[in-house]
Amino acid sequence: MKTQVKALVVGGGAIGASVAYHLAKAGWDDVVLMERDELTAGSTWHAAGLLPLFNMSYAVSHIHQYSVEFYKTLEEETGLNAGFSIVGNLRMARTQERMDEYMLYASTAETVGVPYEFLTPEQIKERWPLVNVEGLVGAIYHPTDGYINPADVTQAMAKGARQRGVDIYRKCQVDDYEWTGTEWIVRGTIMVEKGGNLVPGEEKFEIRAEHVVTCTGNHAQRTAKMLGIKMPAIPVEHQFIVTEPDPALVEYRKDHPEHPVLRDADAKWYVREERGGWILGPYERGAPACFEYGVPDSFRADLFPLDLERIEEEYMSMIERIPSTEEVGLKDDFNGPICYTPDGNPLVGPAPGLRNMWLAEGFSFGITAAGGTGYYLAQMMVAGEAEIDMASLDPKRFGQKWMTTEYGARKNEEAYEHVYILHQPDEEREACRPLRTGPAYERQKARGAQFGCVNGFERPNYYGPLDAPDNFDHEARSFRRGGWWQYAVEEAKAIREGVGVVDATAFTKHLVKGPGATAFLDWFTCNKLPKTGRINLTYALTKLGTVRTEYTIVRLKDDEYYLVSAGAWHEYDQDFLMKAAEDMEAEFGRIDIQDVTTQWGVFAIAGPKSRDLLKNIIKDADPETALSNKRFPWLSARQIELGMCPVNAIRVAYTGELGWELHHPIEMQNYLFDLLEKAGAEFDMKWVGARAQNWLRQEKSYRAFGNELGRDATPLEADLPRFVDMSKEFHGKAPMEATGIRSKCVTVLIDGPEDADPWGREALYINGTKIGRLTSGGYSVAFGKSIGMGYVKPEYAVPGTKVQVKMFNQLFDGEIVVDSPYDSKNETIRKDG
Ligand SMILES: Cc1cc2nc3c(=O)[nH]c(=O)nc-3n(C[C@H](O)[C@H](O)[C@H](O)COP(=O)(O)OP(=O)(O)OC[C@H]3O[C@@H](n4cnc5c(N)ncnc54)[C@H](O)[C@@H]3O)c2cc1C
Repeated sequence: MKTQVKALVVGGGAIGASVAYHLAKAGWDDVVLMERDELTAGSTWHAAGLLPLFNMSYAVSHIHQYSVEFYKTLEEETGLNAGFSIVGNLRMARTQERMDEYMLYASTAETVGVPYEFLTPEQIKERWPLVNVEGLVGAIYHPTDGYINPADVTQAMAKGARQRGVDIYRKCQVDDYEWTGTEWIVRGTIMVEKGGNLVPGEEKFEIRAEHVVTCTGNHAQRTAKMLGIKMPAIPVEHQFIVTEPDPALVEYRKDHPEHPVLRDADAKWYVREERGGWILGPYERGAPACFEYGVPDSFRADLFPLDLERIEEEYMSMIERIPSTEEVGLKDDFNGPICYTPDGNPLVGPAPGLRNMWLAEGFSFGITAAGGTGYYLAQMMVAGEAEIDMASLDPKRFGQKWMTTEYGARKNEEAYEHVYILHQPDEEREACRPLRTGPAYERQKARGAQFGCVNGFERPNYYGPLDAPDNFDHEARSFRRGGWWQYAVEEAKAIREGVGVVDATAFTKHLVKGPGATAFLDWFTCNKLPKTGRINLTYALTKLGTVRTEYTIVRLKDDEYYLVSAGAWHEYDQDFLMKAAEDMEAEFGRIDIQDVTTQWGVFAIAGPKSRDLLKNIIKDADPETALSNKRFPWLSARQIELGMCPVNAIRVAYTGELGWELHHPIEMQNYLFDLLEKAGAEFDMKWVGARAQNWLRQEKSYRAFGNELGRDATPLEADLPRFVDMSKEFHGKAPMEATGIRSKCVTVLIDGPEDADPWGREALYINGTKIGRLTSGGYSVAFGKSIGMGYVKPEYAVPGTKVQVKMFNQLFDGEIVVDSPYDSKNETIRKDG
């Protein structure tokens, strides 16, 4: 056994095999994979092997698309046939709303390059004669996917890995990880068979690895414990049943090819052929989480007993849809653990707080995702970044500070149940809420707030009617303009015409101070640092020069800074900041970094009347001038007093209107809330939610982190040269310059459909040629039409360029407009008074 390697991959399921294969393919010639049992002994052995390309996430769509193409190449490379049946995949719709979902998904498919077709009920019948098409509206069909044998594809990847120099050690269980400062010492036990069980033997091993990747499937909780981190990767029970041969199918197959995999999403099941019979896989309500505290030693390649009652509804629905199945008996059943995460996407990327420790855990579609995960993770490890932005899969998107086992288990049950529930882009899932709330939560609720959840934290999305029933938001969701839309319009107008206040308490906030803080931040971020009392917008870059984090930096003192970044990315930002400061300690000295996120509330007040409102409550020797341009210029920060509340006010507004962010002690939030509301009455002040804010910022072309800003574009590609100080040296500068402009960020005004706005996933065309995609979308109250932001090939990033936006399978006219189409000269923001 080797004792020193470049990379150790732990876990020999589909994911581990693919990671090892792709690390070797990417050029690492010293890789070992360890598996405590046999390869495929985990969830991989009992998967149904479906490879659905359908996925609403841009990153996951790329991953699945890679897998499907990659699996087709494996036989030639390894000589092993993985049994890939490319039968296609037909997803039916019983409602127009379901078709809307498919059409929105098609936007992502189109931007990723996944082929699809829409089918009428008649066309469904042609491809699937045994199906009853009554009540169907249509379907989406993928011709290029199907299903594969999970064990065979894993063995093929393992063989490919071995051919590329990877060593695979079976019966080696990892028990302990220790970081020396430069490498991991990994200790474990050789497992032995005893009476049909797998038990730890006498023999121990130790191996040193520069990098470790954990791909431990259902054992993720044990892995998390060993690493001292939290991972919401907890399995849920998932069943599928296999029927006896169906005579109608057997007859049909005498002179017809195999049916495509069939999905009745509204009835929550899939069906595929299996030796003359059928496999039925339901995603039913009530499937329980399991192994919350680890997998018992006695559980090996085992299954749970079938719970037929739980899937009765789906079973009956299959019989209704495929009448020939009524007389067919059950032959086999599988009820196994399937790993989930609270949002249903896996955890792929660097482990929180640890060095050279990579996670590839929490896969619910792991057979489909294995190929692409290995490919993109290997890029991250070997090249420093993947070619797509993997942030939406980053393990740090769930907070280490607040997440618990109970949260993970209940959310994962919800994620399972939601596999086939409509995925409206304005959906807010209900489980485990409210959990993290600001003090003003109850007051906001009493004003009609309908909340969204950011990193577990409740944040008003919009303020609906005061007497709204409990299911108001649920009913308000839509792929088009939902029931909430008119409320957001009124809120957006309030900010453009009067005054409104957005609760931005969820913002991530860090204090960075100490003698080396200035030199460190100057190196860490790409813009000039502000002078004391001033603020700047700036970016921390990846080592490839793309955007890792966006910060509003306030310089409080010569060597003290307050950093504000996106609320959804708290630990993602913190991890990067802390590690960077630690890495550079030798050069800049020890930097004191404090996470003050939950100590400060933020109300962002904006609108032409915001100054007048604040004047009435500010305590100052001269309230009339306290907020004037002279005493409080745009892009500056001051400590002010609003009534009895001390406020660190920042003159900036993400809505692009005259305004201030009021950072206040969290325990005084309700006092400030009441004060603003009382003083706001004479100005018709409105509480404003995140949805209106998101529209308003697009009118100003303000890029949003996670949409326009991410690890797949440099700040120059985001067309933000004014925030990049090329006269200084900063982290990522050289690669940023070397990258050039592959595509460029633009703002688009769109004459879209009457009843819908883009969501930021749509493809952009000129004369039938795809030239880019939207990354944000919404409605502009200033222009009275749809708006979006996105990326296009640089030659098209010219104001006045006419484009077409694909929405609901139709092309709508749009025009690329100047940056900040609303108030291009920033006159309202800078207005004096
Ligand atoms: C009934 C059912 C049907 C499914 N159908 C599909 C489907 O059709 N399509 C699809 O894409 N997905 C499907 N899945 C999901 C799929 O099975 C999983 O997503 C996938 O197998 C996960 O692969 P993995 O490599 O992450 O985990 P696993 O296959 O569980 O592999 C993890 C491995 O790590 C090993 N390990 C753990 N801890 C250690 C340690 N400390 N030291 C050494 N080794 C360790 C384990 O022994 C195990 O072999 C299904 C799941 C179920 C339950």
